[in-house]
Amino acid sequence: MTNIAENIQSVKAKITAIRPGAELIAVSKNHDATKVREALVAGQYIFGENRVQEAAGKFPALREEFPNLKLHLIGPLQTNKVKDALELFDVIQTVDREKLARAFAKDLNENSRTKEFFIQVNIGEEPQKAGIAPQQTEEFFKFCTQDLKLNITGLMCIPPVDEQAFMYFALLKNITLKLPTPNLKLSMGMSSDYEEALEMGADYIRVGTAIFGERS
Ligand SMILES: *Cc1c(COP(=O)(O)O)cnc(C)c1O
Repeated sequence: MTNIAENIQSVKAKITAIRPGAELIAVSKNHDATKVREALVAGQYIFGENRVQEAAGKFPALREEFPNLKLHLIGPLQTNKVKDALELFDVIQTVDREKLARAFAKDLNENSRTKEFFIQVNIGEEPQKAGIAPQQTEEFFKFCTQDLKLNITGLMCIPPVDEQAFMYFALLKNITLKLPTPNLKLSMGMSSDYEEALEMGADYIRVGTAIFGERS
């Protein structure tokens, strides 16, 4: 049996030891609302989901019970789902192309739940992966913040599998140092590499399997 409360405590203990103040995002995709509730009862209140439809099925009811719950979108988004995403997610971490950024800017209003956006960087420059190329991130950041007036508060990345992740974490950190806004947040590190990510300066780690167990 997966002990969700115990798993959360052990990830949080690592955060306290390595980078106090970093936030844990519990990635609850493919796990049902009962498990999310267990995590909430254990004091975890930030969650990550990959898909609008799945999140819409689980979170509105949980929010009534736990008003401080925060939800991050960490999966790719089609532009026809932009309106739904802006109602559902507090933070959207996957601004990965110009067309999507424009759609957010167009549909965002004072009633939107979303207040913060992160740019997803294709840190390993992998053709099959979403995200802005590292060398184009500065220009894209300026486009989003200056032209579209989007509140970009961080960068996120998913390093190539089967490679040393720390190199890519360091690369993402370097990109933020070149951007004109200080204190941009870094979202990096998953179950297999979150300790390295914390060592490299992660502000948000996104942990699924190490909390909820294997996904079906
Ligand atoms: C699924 C997912 C995670 C969590 O992965 P685990 O290996 O289960 O911790 C983190 N980030 C993103 C973008 C994901 O899609």
